[in-house]
Amino acid sequence: MNDFVTPIAYGYPSFEMREESDRAEIVLGGCSIRDEAPDYRCTECQFEWQKGKKKLGQYVDVD
Ligand SMILES: [Zn+2]
Repeated sequence: MNDFVTPIAYGYPSFEMREESDRAEIVLGGCSIRDEAPDYRCTECQFEWQKGKKKLGQYVDVD
């Protein structure tokens, strides 16, 4: 699934972040940053996880 691994960027998205999101280089994670916020998402199966804690990741619903 490595081709689908995309970093998740948090905070209010800048113009640059929106462009990167359009090119599917990043996933926009939104403004609210949780303690357990994941760092990566597999855009194929929508699995999200924190760096180094892939076993603790989870599948998410994405509209
Ligand atoms: Zn996957």
